[in-house]
Amino acid sequence: MYMNHVPLPVEPGYGVPANDIAGQFDTQHVDPPRARTVPEHRNLRNDDFWRRIPAFARIPASEFHTHVFQARHSITNTGQLRQTLGHLAPDSFYQDIDAGLKHAPMALRISPYLLSLIDWADPHSDPIRTQFLPLRSQQAPDHPMLQFDSLNERGDSPVPGLTHRYPDKALFIAIDSCPVYCRFCTRSYAVGNDTEGVEKLKLHANLQRWETMFEYIASRPELEDIVVSGGDTYNLRSEHLRLIGERLLRLPNIRRIRYATKGLAVMPQKILTDHAWTDALTEVVNLGRRMHKDVVVHTHFNHPHEITQVTHDAMNRLTERGITVRCQTVLQRNVNDSPATMQLLVRRLSYVNIHPYYVYFHDLAPGVEDLRTSLAAGLHLEKHVRGHTAGFNTPSFVVDTMGGGGKRDCHSFEYYNRETGIAVFTSPSVKPGARFLYFDPLLSLHPDAQARWKHEAERRVMIEEACQGAEGSAMIRHGNTMRTH
Ligand code: SF4
Repeated sequence: MYMNHVPLPVEPGYGVPANDIAGQFDTQHVDPPRARTVPEHRNLRNDDFWRRIPAFARIPASEFHTHVFQARHSITNTGQLRQTLGHLAPDSFYQDIDAGLKHAPMALRISPYLLSLIDWADPHSDPIRTQFLPLRSQQAPDHPMLQFDSLNERGDSPVPGLTHRYPDKALFIAIDSCPVYCRFCTRSYAVGNDTEGVEKLKLHANLQRWETMFEYIASRPELEDIVVSGGDTYNLRSEHLRLIGERLLRLPNIRRIRYATKGLAVMPQKILTDHAWTDALTEVVNLGRRMHKDVVVHTHFNHPHEITQVTHDAMNRLTERGITVRCQTVLQRNVNDSPATMQLLVRRLSYVNIHPYYVYFHDLAPGVEDLRTSLAAGLHLEKHVRGHTAGFNTPSFVVDTMGGGGKRDCHSFEYYNRETGIAVFTSPSVKPGARFLYFDPLLSLHPDAQARWKHEAERRVMIEEACQGAEGSAMIRHGNTMRTH
């Protein structure tokens, strides 16, 4: 068992001897006791799950659950994966990953914790494997409208590493590495090591580069809100985490800071054992509070299996320190695209005090077309999630539009043709007058529509039809005209 586990408090009424109750109440009208099953969302994994991995079989909990062990034993190539897993997977599996990596824009990096949470009896359909270890046999051809850096972050970047798209908010890319590398990363143009197909833009942790970013932020009084991201702020040294937070808080225009990290989902041990890092975060949050400014953490869970008792303990540490954590989930086919899975994820996040904030439709990114869902699938899912729990714990389902229109509520499309799989959005407060297109994965379309997408001329016709459809509906509502982005 995981040794740091703090027992849950007993709920009112639990553990009270039946005789005591009988002495106080009229037992003739008391219903017979019902079986007290733990609701699924509270049923957090708390076994020695890592011991099933041959290389970790003898590692005690006190060593496994440290950030040092997790960082040192992270897997970064298939040779290490073979050595670690041994007989748990056949040769063909490792060959499939090798071939998958050749078509992936992200390098391989997975923590021992995540690796141990994969169901090695059925890795092909496991939701954690699906997100971190690419199998060539499952990859689908890229969508013909794919663009690298589809969100156009570099196009909206006045200085290297800073994206200023929304009037009052900017993205501060502090570092270009992460504790793990997700197959579906939107920022694959910069994050992680170079791959066979992608030479990355280098945005290392660098005081001089940050200085230019601080200067830009100070020069733009309309900026109030900074997302400090990466890469992942988990990989920042504690003194750098503190320096960035303090410098930003001392700028009079800055009111809000969000530190973005996937760490809680992939290496929660760090919150519990890297005291310097957690203390630095706490100090920035406390400084913000004293200055009447808001400093929070944004994290990224995609499947209920990623939340264990270690996550709960890490979150309890942050909750004790008054640190707010919100979650931005990425909607992925065969990972979290069923109502039951998404409902469980939302309830489990809420249970450990993480606010489910956004569910993003999967961006168009190279090598991960197999992970995307259609807009229709997401709309269906949203209906099932809304109403399942409290409104403030219900995420907004958003499309982060290609070309830099920012996030749009999934229901706010101007036009959507489910046959061709083209949706048209507008973003009046970010890029007035422009239109932004979202494309369903071709796999989700009827074979006739898939055949149309093979021809360049047909694509143009379908896109033109969609734009005209959007213009028609906009003119009916507003009587105005728009240009195509
Ligand atoms: S942790 Fe975030 S930035 Fe890093 S690879 Fe994953 S999605 Fe990309």
